[in-house]
Amino acid sequence: MKLIDSYGRRINYLRLSVTDRCNLRCSYCMPAEGVPKLGHGDMLSYEDMYRVASEAVSLGIEKIRVTGGEPLVRKGLLRFLGRLAAIPGLKELVLTTNGMLLSELARPLRQAGVQRLNISLDSLRPETFTRITRGGDLAKVLDGIAAAEDAGFPPVKINMVVMRGVNDDELLDFAALTLHKPYTVRFIEYMPTLKEEGWNSQCMAGGEILELIGRHYPLLPMVGAEMAGPARNFKISGAAGAIGIITPISGHFCDSCNRIRVTAAGVLRGCLFADSGVDLKPLLLNADNGLLRETLQGIVTGKPGRHHLAEDETRHGTVAMSRIGG
Ligand code: SAM
Ligand code: SF4
Repeated sequence: MKLIDSYGRRINYLRLSVTDRCNLRCSYCMPAEGVPKLGHGDMLSYEDMYRVASEAVSLGIEKIRVTGGEPLVRKGLLRFLGRLAAIPGLKELVLTTNGMLLSELARPLRQAGVQRLNISLDSLRPETFTRITRGGDLAKVLDGIAAAEDAGFPPVKINMVVMRGVNDDELLDFAALTLHKPYTVRFIEYMPTLKEEGWNSQCMAGGEILELIGRHYPLLPMVGAEMAGPARNFKISGAAGAIGIITPISGHFCDSCNRIRVTAAGVLRGCLFADSGVDLKPLLLNADNGLLRETLQGIVTGKPGRHHLAEDETRHGTVAMSRIGG
């Protein structure tokens, strides 16, 4: 079965936010004081998430990314992941984490059936890392990356949100990580989801990022694989790993967007920047899954053609990335 939206895009990727809680407060994602937490009753239960995920897979979803907030802080996650991994027809189960708890959890995650990990890492300098994340410990994340390798995960993808004047002086250091290790380092354009004061000055377009790296390391374009996501990938000649660039602002990838999202509160959204979504909780009170299936199909049909963040940032309200799942 296939889910096709009204623009002819095949939707086969679900991002599932399992919690709005996080053990960090990254400056681009949350205000310093954090965001109001969902009450436990407002968060979707694992049982309900499982129902949504299995219906979505039966309709045509092939890849699920578990995200958050920080997914590894939610209790009972490993058992839930094990159940997700066993859904017939699911081809890929992957997870995005800040890596702070990964050194202890890498092996159990692998055993639960997670196939790949994306790790958010915005600085290789301990003080800058702690400043951006408001309290994170770089050494723990690096230990987590090593633990993922030891646990048998394929080489991790490292996601760096590039912010001018904050971490743009580390672009070459991040690119150099790929020289001897088979990591994929992905540079992500900073999105003004919080619209905090002075955000404009932090934005750095993907083209400029590539040019800065390209001046030092000649970059060879790579062809994308199916379900590879929105990154344009390159390789430094002779490097073990790869470099990706993700440009949600300067070169929105909406034309090839293949994803839908379920937030930690159980709201189904067709676009990260959609003004609203459908609350699945009332539908899940019904033991029959018919309405749930119709709603999943409906959100795909009504998926917007594109977002308008670049040309008119006033058109979208602030976006709580930690609730929606990035
Ligand atoms: N806590 C996990 C983590 O940080 O990897 C998963 C959730 S986090 C919301 C998912 C992704 O969203 C992270 O890679 C993060 O860098 C990205 N993100 C959050 N806010 C962003 C922003 N304003 N611009 C670009 N990326 C952002
Ligand atoms: Fe937490 Fe991830 Fe948001 Fe950072 S980006 S505050 S780690 S949810």
